Amino acid sequence: MIERASMQYTTSIKKMMSWQKEMKALGLTIGFVPTMGFLHEGHLKLIEEAKKSSDCVAVSIFVNPTQFGPGEDFEAYPRRLDADIRLATEAGADIVFCPEVKEMYPVDGGIRIVPGKLAKKMCGASRPGHFDGVLKVVLKLVNIVQPDTVFFGMKDAQQLAIIETFFRDFNCPATIVRVPTVRDEDGLAKSSRNVNLSTDEREDAPIIFETLKHAEVLVQEGVTKEAVEKFVSDTLDNKTSGKVDYVSLLTYPDLEAPTETSNDLIIACAVQFTKARLIDNIIFKREG
Ligand code: AMP
Repeated sequence: MIERASMQYTTSIKKMMSWQKEMKALGLTIGFVPTMGFLHEGHLKLIEEAKKSSDCVAVSIFVNPTQFGPGEDFEAYPRRLDADIRLATEAGADIVFCPEVKEMYPVDGGIRIVPGKLAKKMCGASRPGHFDGVLKVVLKLVNIVQPDTVFFGMKDAQQLAIIETFFRDFNCPATIVRVPTVRDEDGLAKSSRNVNLSTDEREDAPIIFETLKHAEVLVQEGVTKEAVEKFVSDTLDNKTSGKVDYVSLLTYPDLEAPTETSNDLIIACAVQFTKARLIDNIIFKREG
């Protein structure tokens, strides 16, 4: 890892590309952490992991409008750019790329990336077009930064599965590293959206992870998919003020209904609170 005294950031695609070319000319490897900002310990963990295994680290901060549907929280998504640049730099970023929307999307040529069957389940079922927007921005960012390695969090497990499949199927040369979910002490997964929870909702929110952990035990005991999903859904309905969007027990990363022989599983859910939609999951191996 190269030590750099001053923090660097740029809003320009051209400058970002000159930086990566300069690093490559020096023979240095680039680790990349794409984010939507309002950084928390989850993001910082990704940056730390990138720093451990790459010569230099680029972090992007961009609230991507193409992955928000009509009526979703694009406007209300929390933003805090100055503090984010400082936090990312302190965690080990050598450059922070924070473009404006018009820099990333100056024109729309109408071409879309369609993620297909993986995007029809879980979050994709209630957020049509969300993963099209995710793939578009990830492809653009990866083309701009041209990293050796890209770091993604397992909290966004469906996003991770879709991006891994996209990279594999389209021979994207960067390697993907999965980073485990970072949680508050009470188990709530760190999320930029947690600031939009009311005090009461924040008190309820750890029940999500507790219930998923309980669901994993039920799976290990042989309880059926339908009964496990119903248990999670009913518990979250009864014990939180949020509205359950979905609960899914699927194989991971294929996101298919498990058969008797499926061992790599995910139990995932989304809960809509007044101003924040929270997602969480546990990825685990079925024993025996
Ligand atoms: P976001 O800014 O929410 O789009 O997230 C940017 C990256 O950080 C994605 O790869 C997320 O999966 C990852 N991330 C978000 N929250 C967490 C968390 N609590 N633990 C680990 N990674 C996370």
